[in-house]
Amino acid sequence: MPLDYHSLLTAFVLSGCGLAITFFVSWLVSRTERFLIAWKLGVSFMALGVLFYSWYAQTMSPVLGAAGYTILLTGLAFVFGAGREFRTGVLPWRSMCIIAVTSSTAMAVPMLAGYNGASIIVLNIAATLILLVTAWDYWRGRAEARLAIALLTALYILTGLSFVPCAIVLLYAGEWRLSQIPSNWAEDLNIVVCLTTLAGIGALSLALNQARLARGHKRDAETDPLTGLLNRRALLSHIADDIEGPAALVIFDADHFKIINDVHGHLAGDEVLRTFGEILKLSSPSQGLAARLGGEEFALLVPGASLVTAALLADVVRTRLAKRQFTGNGGSFNCTVSAGVSCSEDAAADFETLLRDADNALYAAKRNGRDRVAVNSGKIEFLAHTRSVRDDQRSPIDLVRLKTG
Ligand code: GH3
Ligand code: MG
Ligand code: MG
Repeated sequence: MPLDYHSLLTAFVLSGCGLAITFFVSWLVSRTERFLIAWKLGVSFMALGVLFYSWYAQTMSPVLGAAGYTILLTGLAFVFGAGREFRTGVLPWRSMCIIAVTSSTAMAVPMLAGYNGASIIVLNIAATLILLVTAWDYWRGRAEARLAIALLTALYILTGLSFVPCAIVLLYAGEWRLSQIPSNWAEDLNIVVCLTTLAGIGALSLALNQARLARGHKRDAETDPLTGLLNRRALLSHIADDIEGPAALVIFDADHFKIINDVHGHLAGDEVLRTFGEILKLSSPSQGLAARLGGEEFALLVPGASLVTAALLADVVRTRLAKRQFTGNGGSFNCTVSAGVSCSEDAAADFETLLRDADNALYAAKRNGRDRVAVNSGKIEFLAHTRSVRDDQRSPIDLVRLKTG
């Protein structure tokens, strides 16, 4: 299906407009993704630049030529900015201005001086460099989605390199002044490559954005907003999916938390919960799963840990919270937690039992005075006198039999 050069230019303008509209609508749906706006502006400028270029082809007016290429280079600067904003979250205004101004000046000076051939060579070199830098920027962010970003990088490189033969053909022929726009195999190849990669780059950018949004929604659905820990549902699904073999579970419950809220206010209560979340995260071993089960109740699942190891860990967490000072409506105050620990040979298969045993141990800790850790092996329930660690440096864990089942 042979197509003449001008039809291909028209096709580029129309696809650019279509893509710009698609990016704008996508931004309307998810306004936090501001890089979509930079992309929309980039494609719009490029489409407008190509439109000007078509008029330039008819009139060969240097002013129209310089204006068209300036708009095109500004569009490319926005495409570079969109890529950087996608990776870093910040639109690089300064770099974009430098790219647009320097490349446009280098192109416009020879164009207005009558050396349109030299100007087109500069344009092609500038387009190559901007697109290669954009490709490099995407490549640096490849950890997010290796395959899609590798493809996107390849498309930007291909587009950038397609401008090189256009410059080489003009340089080789030494055509510094042209009476009409260049028409050769390199120009045809360039517009065909641009038209093809524009669609691919647009589709991949949108797909990457969708994947990022989906990941964000999943993260929100799994995260407790106050503490940033996993929520109950996420903990259960992680245990079902990722945990194999033995594990210990600790359940923490803040002591007399209702009184803290009543005396010091709900905001101070929230601050205690946030702080406890941080302590739990910091104290958790790398393979541990820390979660807020709801209200003032938290859980820490430690794969491979024994009952005693988990009890000691629970006591570290308990002690760290007890040492913290908070300020509320009633002045400065402390908050303590009680903890129940249980252990299972197969945590994922036996999670209900693990939870019930830890819960029973927690009640034992509450019944026996709060601010302490109790452990439950299923058959035997102990109270871990871990307070002795802090109080008088005696044995780190002194188990007192409460009940034999
Ligand atoms: P115990 O030592 O027996 O656990 O007593 P408690 O007062 O801690 O237990 P209770 O279950 O009676 O009260 C829990 C309180 O936790 C009541 C509720 O208002 C408070 N709470 C639950 N979620 C939040 C929250 O997100 N923020 C604040 N500030 N308080 C909360
Ligand atoms: Mg509670
Ligand atoms: Mg409580």
